[in-house]
Amino acid sequence: MTADRTFDALIVGAGMVGAAAACLLARCGFSVAILEAHEPQAFDSAAAVGLRVSAFSPGAQAILTEAGAWRQIEAQRHCPYRRMHVEDRDESVVIAFSAPEFGLERLGTIIENPLVQWSLWQTLQAMGGVEIICPDQLETLEYVDSEPVVRLVSGRSIQCRLLVGADGANSQVRKMLGIDQDHWEYGQQGIVSVIETDRPNPGIAWQRFMEGGPLAFLPLQDGTSSMVWSRPEAEAQRLLELDDDIFCAELEQAAGGTIEPWPGPIRACGPRAAFPLTMRLSHYYAASRAVLIGDAAHVVHPLAGQGVNLGLLDAAGLAEVLLAARSDQADISSEKTLRKFERWRRSEAEVMARGIHHLRGLFMPETLAPLRRLGLGLVARSWIAKEAFIKRAAGQNSNAPALARGVALTDLLR
Ligand SMILES: Cc1cc2nc3c(=O)[nH]c(=O)nc-3n(C[C@H](O)[C@H](O)[C@H](O)COP(=O)(O)OP(=O)(O)OC[C@H]3O[C@@H](n4cnc5c(N)ncnc54)[C@H](O)[C@@H]3O)c2cc1C
Repeated sequence: MTADRTFDALIVGAGMVGAAAACLLARCGFSVAILEAHEPQAFDSAAAVGLRVSAFSPGAQAILTEAGAWRQIEAQRHCPYRRMHVEDRDESVVIAFSAPEFGLERLGTIIENPLVQWSLWQTLQAMGGVEIICPDQLETLEYVDSEPVVRLVSGRSIQCRLLVGADGANSQVRKMLGIDQDHWEYGQQGIVSVIETDRPNPGIAWQRFMEGGPLAFLPLQDGTSSMVWSRPEAEAQRLLELDDDIFCAELEQAAGGTIEPWPGPIRACGPRAAFPLTMRLSHYYAASRAVLIGDAAHVVHPLAGQGVNLGLLDAAGLAEVLLAARSDQADISSEKTLRKFERWRRSEAEVMARGIHHLRGLFMPETLAPLRRLGLGLVARSWIAKEAFIKRAAGQNSNAPALARGVALTDLLR
């Protein structure tokens, strides 16, 4: 097969992670093509807050800044939060964090996913060195002169030095590369909705671990809260079908009687949707001149709000590894270069994913209540444990990519 065009990198998937990777690699001076099946809709800030919302860590914010999209995001709907409360179901243990305690300006920012994707998309459209191929899809993958050549549904074919799979949890790139995954179905769904409480949410991210799964409320700019409530599948289905006022009453009962900063009682809820909760860990992140990033490589339970944050760290890590290879005049897609990326990012993602998995397990059965109270009580009293937790959740631990720790891309390019 002869290719129509050749690029340094072809990124499959322009979700938040793929689009951020494309911006970073193009800013590093690599020639980039990005393939996306569906063109994102323009973000409409006059519309009601959407259901897909994420907590972006300070590390993710730093990466989005270097990708060139943060200013545009910040000019629209977003909500920084500086305090976090985590509590056991009977409030026997409460862990409270605040950003200034750890020298942070904020613990994170709540943003609608479509705003982040749209801002990155617009950044890509405005920059040189990137070809956006949309709408189109992957059809076949072959190797010509040891380089990946991808044929698209449209009939075009693209050759690249490096193929990047950023095509989400059901990654076709991963399947084409023959990379297997460990896969856990939690038998739970995350119900999401926007909740209005009696008083505005004072900018606190709040999480309660309950029997059946955690319940989280994330603050939104207008004083409402974005809710994620993990429930067993049948129970989630029942909750989805309830009338709004009955749902709010059940939610109030689950969240109610809470600690002081909770702004309840609950007044109203918006539309509801549910997402299946899984953990998936790919056995490899790199294979013959190809890598996986974001949900294509790992899917984690949303209780710690880390999925897209891990993906953005992958994007930044990939840019740094490729830059280092280029400055050493090495091949950017050699096995040595890609294994370096894989060792780094896979070990980091596994620590986070398995940590969240075990935390979730600890909170499920009532029989583990004494162990849970002991563990949470120790964390609540230990500043060192809290600091280690916050640094990792902030995406700014010592092993995080330099871009996440606030180093400018221009400094890496020197
Ligand atoms: C209820 C819930 C709450 C969450 N909350 C948080 C949170 O607070 N914080 C957080 O960090 N994470 C959170 N997450 C996780 C987060 O939403 C995901 O990790 C993130 O959206 C993954 O982004 P991605 O770009 O890797 O993949 P995706 O968003 O899945 O993007 C993949 C893209 O690839 C395209 N694509 C797929 N196949 C092809 C193909 N063959 N050809 C061309 N294009 C293709 C798709 O159209 C899509 O645009 C949450 C998840 C859930 C379910």
